[in-house]
Amino acid sequence: MKKLIDGIHRFQSGVFGAKKELFERLSKGQEPDALFITCSDSRVSPTLLTQTVPGDLFILRNAGNLVPPYGPIHGAEAAAIEYAIDVLAVRDLIICGHTHCGAMKAVLDPSSLDKLPATKGWLTYAEATRRVMTTHYRDLSNDDQLEVCIEENVLVQIEHLRTHPSVLAALASSRLRLHAWVYEIESGHVMAFDEHAGQYVPIAEAGRGVAERPDRLTATRQI
Ligand code: ZN
Repeated sequence: MKKLIDGIHRFQSGVFGAKKELFERLSKGQEPDALFITCSDSRVSPTLLTQTVPGDLFILRNAGNLVPPYGPIHGAEAAAIEYAIDVLAVRDLIICGHTHCGAMKAVLDPSSLDKLPATKGWLTYAEATRRVMTTHYRDLSNDDQLEVCIEENVLVQIEHLRTHPSVLAALASSRLRLHAWVYEIESGHVMAFDEHAGQYVPIAEAGRGVAERPDRLTATRQI
């Protein structure tokens, strides 16, 4: 805890004054560029990774960067997505998975969750990911399975996003682009799904968004 409180002191004495104009502007409202959905994992820092400042990203985090499909019960995820699109009018929506994701390890090994009923329940939103893995990638090594599971899960969650009315309406009027990313903790690289290539590529080589031609997006890769 001392580390956190010392950090607050350093923020107030060193950082805040230097960025006074920014914080003054932010006190009047926010106009974020993007909704950034990622895992709760402590090793993923969206603002550090994208070199953005407060006010740039509207961030939604949970275990496994999951998006429950839209339904009659509206949870925190549905509310954040609706608000980001319909009120804040973000132009881009990113789902960013990451390497070494504990949630995805659990998706591949559900028995590890026997004593974690809440986590087990939450990860049912990755059930389609688990089924894609058992159907298509059963023969891969454990390490390769995890890597593919992380990538496939982001695509599955992109499909869940499309069940949200605010997302579909924004896509239909070309007000929104969807992006599937995976952050590599060990290298600092970010891979982005390029729907024309049908695979993840280094972000500099990726197209502008997976939603530009949604008819061609497939949730699973051919192997
Ligand atoms: Zn994770």
